[in-house]
Amino acid sequence: MNLILLGPPGAGKGTQAKILQDRYGVAQISTGDMLRAEVKAGTEIGLKAKSVMDAGGLVSDEIIIAMLANRIAQPDCVRGFILDGFPRTVPQASALDDMLGGKGLHLDAVIELRVDDAALTERIAGRFTCAKCGAGYHDSFHPTAVAGVCDKCGSTEFIRRADDKRETVAARLKAYHTQTAPILPHYAGLGRLRTVDGMADMAEVTRHLTEVLDHV
Ligand code: AMP
Repeated sequence: MNLILLGPPGAGKGTQAKILQDRYGVAQISTGDMLRAEVKAGTEIGLKAKSVMDAGGLVSDEIIIAMLANRIAQPDCVRGFILDGFPRTVPQASALDDMLGGKGLHLDAVIELRVDDAALTERIAGRFTCAKCGAGYHDSFHPTAVAGVCDKCGSTEFIRRADDKRETVAARLKAYHTQTAPILPHYAGLGRLRTVDGMADMAEVTRHLTEVLDHV
C-alpha cells in the first residue's frame, strides 16, 4: 500500500502514520524527521536546511526530491510506504508521480487530515517528546502521568522542536496554505483524495483512517 497523509503541521500526520505503519506493515517516511536527522548529524543537507526550518519555511524541492527518491528505493519500502510531510509543493507532487511511474507503482490513497488553524497552533505550541524513546506528549492535552518523567520508559529528558514556537508556527501554517494546499486539487483530479476530520480524538481519527484504507 502506498499512501500520502496530507495536512497542515500539527494535524496528527506523524502520530497516525506511526500507528498505520504497524497496522499495515509499510514504511513510514517523514521528510521532516529525515531533515532533523541531517541537521543533527551536521551534514551538508542539514546545514542548508537548518535556517529554513527554523524560520518555518520549506526546504528546496531539489534537496527534498533527491532525498525522497533515495529513501523509497530502500528495501523496507518494498511492501509500500506512508508519506508524511511529502509532497509539500506542486513540483514535489509531479516528481513523485514520475518516480512512482518509473517503478510501475501507484498511489492507493491520498488522505487529507483537516484541522482548524486555531487548534493547530495550540496543539503544536504545547507538544514535546521523550528524548530517549520518542513518546509524544502535550502540556495540556496529554501530559506525563508524573511531571517530568516519561510514562513509557521513565526517562526525565524531553525535547521540544525548535520550530514549534508560536512565531514559527504562523510561518509554517502560511507555507502550508500557500504552497502545499494547492496540491490537493491535483490528487482530487486523479480521484485519489479522501478527507478525514483531524479534529476528532486520536483513536477516532485512526478508526476513520483504517475505514478508508481497508477499502482501497
Ligand atoms: P515536519 O516535521 O513535516 O513538520 O517538517 C519540519 C520542517 O522540515 C518543515 O517546516 C520544513 O522546513 C521542512 N520540510 C519537511 N518536509 C519538507 C518537504 N517535503 N518540503 C520542504 N520542506 C520540508
